Amino acid sequence: MTDIAMSTLYDSTRKSDIGRSLGQAIEAGLASDGGLFLPRSLPAIRPERLDTSSFASMSRGVLAPWLNNTEFKETWHDILSDALSFAVPVVPLLDDVFVCELFHGPTLSFKDFGARTMARLLGDRLSRTGEERIILVATSGDTGSAVADGFAGIPGIQVVLLYPGGGVSEVQERQLIVQRPGVHPFRVAGSFDDCQRLVKAAFTHDAWSGLPLSTANSINIGRLLPQMLYYWWGVLNLMQASEQDIVPSVCVPSGNLGNLTAGVMAHLSGLPLARFQAAHNANDFFVRYMRDPASEFGTTVQTVSNAMDVGAPSNFERLRALLPGDDLNHLVGTSTTSDEQTLGTMRSIFEETGYVADPHTAVGIHAVQEARKSGGMTGPVLVMATAHPAKFPKTCSKATGVKPKEPDELARLKRAPKEWTDLNPDIKQLADLVRAKTGL
Ligand SMILES: *Cc1c(COP(=O)(O)O)cnc(C)c1O
Repeated sequence: MTDIAMSTLYDSTRKSDIGRSLGQAIEAGLASDGGLFLPRSLPAIRPERLDTSSFASMSRGVLAPWLNNTEFKETWHDILSDALSFAVPVVPLLDDVFVCELFHGPTLSFKDFGARTMARLLGDRLSRTGEERIILVATSGDTGSAVADGFAGIPGIQVVLLYPGGGVSEVQERQLIVQRPGVHPFRVAGSFDDCQRLVKAAFTHDAWSGLPLSTANSINIGRLLPQMLYYWWGVLNLMQASEQDIVPSVCVPSGNLGNLTAGVMAHLSGLPLARFQAAHNANDFFVRYMRDPASEFGTTVQTVSNAMDVGAPSNFERLRALLPGDDLNHLVGTSTTSDEQTLGTMRSIFEETGYVADPHTAVGIHAVQEARKSGGMTGPVLVMATAHPAKFPKTCSKATGVKPKEPDELARLKRAPKEWTDLNPDIKQLADLVRAKTGL
């Protein structure tokens, strides 16, 4: 078999669920042995052969070896242009520090890239078999709205969203409960952990038998493939704009490590870059692991960068499989940023440049400034800006004294009709409600 065919076969990190097609890996999410799917080999992409005149043309070149020999070979061009029809600006911020703004999709975080693409790939697969699916997700923020928006109206797919009442910001809640075709939000009287427990229980509980459940969390390989694209776009843009031959580093505000893993996949398949910096908040298992591999997952702590509040990052296993032994240390640096440092960075960046960074992006900028001071990072750096500041108006006003301008997407939501169901964390009652709402 050629290399290209091998990059379209997916094996579990735990080695017993192997040889899946991309469509099968997307439909399954997690492998049957509990591992995460990875391509058997990575394609070798030649940057100089890519047409970088637009994000769309570059994307077709980058993803060709990943998708041409799959069941999506006839459809993926259309799927991609429909899913990723928004801008990805690279903005100069400080001396040799640039931000790659990933928040111009419909729900204003980078999660739109993965959710919108995965939804269309799964919908395409289901349309051929005539099957139906219920996507069940627990969310504490950005994932839920991206998944709800990405999957809404896709034939054969309905979405059941569980979120903790009182555990999400006002803006986030508005994004979750706005009426969308085929989307059923539940406001759970409980915590995010209660929501996650309900999702896990649903897959094995008797009351749910016969319901065609799937998930769409960041372990799904269908979300990681499109997330490689903005690494290619951002890094190649910087390299082309620079007079000298310098290879930039990339800083990634991290939680579940899905975004970093996508960047590493881009690099291992041909994207030149010097180094990654994984920027964490107080939930810093990965930072501790790099100092001491005997470190264990932590319990989740709440921070102002709440989309990165993850004690046990689910993509760690995949990252380690991609970068075994010393490879991880050679390619990736890590750092922890406190809430105080996050707010301080938002303030100083605003005062110095007028730029309002959201709290997650600020964790990344702080990580770069610290790494610079300690000599751990030289040359140009691209910081992945993961969310729009207007998603976090309270934190932004507190840090900078100004309320970020509300983009049209959010203003429209205020007027749009809302719909949700209140729920006690009861797995049987939820099953009855889901049957009634979905008709399945
Ligand atoms: C999800 C999210 C992150 C963390 O990304 P991972 O892939 O989980 O590491 C960072 N910032 C924002 C705004 C997010 O929504």
